[in-house]
Amino acid sequence: MSGSPSTDDAPAKNGAQSSRSGSGNTTSPLLSVRDLRTWFPIKAGLLRKTVGHVRAVDGVSFDIFAGKTMALVGESGCGKTTVGRSLLRLVEPDAGKVLFEGTDLLQLRADELRRTRQRLQMVFQDPMTSLDPRMRVRDILTEGMESFGIGANAKERTERVAHLLETVRLDPRHMHRYPHEFSGGQRQRIGVARALSVDPRLIVLDESVSALDVSIQAQILNLLGELQAELGLAYLFITHDLSVVRYLSDDVSVMYLGQIVEQSSTAELFEAPQHPYTRGLLASIPSADPKVRKLEAKVLGDVPSPAKPPPGCRFHTRCNEAFDRCPREMPDLYELAGRKTRCFLVEPDASSER
Ligand code: SF4
Repeated sequence: MSGSPSTDDAPAKNGAQSSRSGSGNTTSPLLSVRDLRTWFPIKAGLLRKTVGHVRAVDGVSFDIFAGKTMALVGESGCGKTTVGRSLLRLVEPDAGKVLFEGTDLLQLRADELRRTRQRLQMVFQDPMTSLDPRMRVRDILTEGMESFGIGANAKERTERVAHLLETVRLDPRHMHRYPHEFSGGQRQRIGVARALSVDPRLIVLDESVSALDVSIQAQILNLLGELQAELGLAYLFITHDLSVVRYLSDDVSVMYLGQIVEQSSTAELFEAPQHPYTRGLLASIPSADPKVRKLEAKVLGDVPSPAKPPPGCRFHTRCNEAFDRCPREMPDLYELAGRKTRCFLVEPDASSER
């Protein structure tokens, strides 16, 4: 892989097979999210009364299987980062279930949750703010090991740090350096090594390559793909950029204003996107081939406020296929042939509705 792939030239992940339930996978999901809801209260006045809610995550469900990647895609403000933070309870969800290895994380006490975080790690967008600038890389990487009792002593943990740095293709001799002595891409490798240091089964990657140059993005995506193949890791890959999804993900969930609007295998989504929003996002990706003409319209205008989502279909204010029913009723997430789409146009008897 030599650069961030466009819609036209990027291969799907290793001939990606869908990992969604109902598409041939007979194993249980590693992570199963059901009707997750995270609303933030809006306070106003001298008494700080709650006058409304930002519906950041509003009934989101998806599964991730061991060794697979689910991409969660949408524009800024769609709620995708809040989903990631809600799973780890870095923000507290209001409702729903987050079943990880069969245990509902939302029901765990603080000490139980802390133990679970060994197997469920997160890599953030900006390694400069997520890595303590006063700590040497060795100490950053041993912090989690000490906390979870990994490694019998300091010598063993240091050996493990050297191995981790090699794993993320960094020089082990640099373990005594500080984060500012590395480039942006190298710092993100340190962020990945920190997540790996405690032997996770699932890593939430929150815009983890977004701040990097395209060529560095490609290197990190390659590394993540190799680590997944080697270690059997599962990823929740959160991004606003559909172009980086195709290489790494098996499945895609597209979010708009707190809701999933399309859920599909990555190959099917790129081949035949069903929701007008997904088609707009795909049309916004620059093509590597100038001869390729984009037939779909891009999504115009800004995302409405999640504090006051539009009535009916939340996308109707920006949808170039909206019709009279769309502002009045909210479409369900209709399931057809293993794919899910929240749009009246794919409702089983849609032809009689227009
Ligand atoms: Fe567009 Fe209507 Fe479908 Fe919503 S339900 S995406 S407004 S066509």
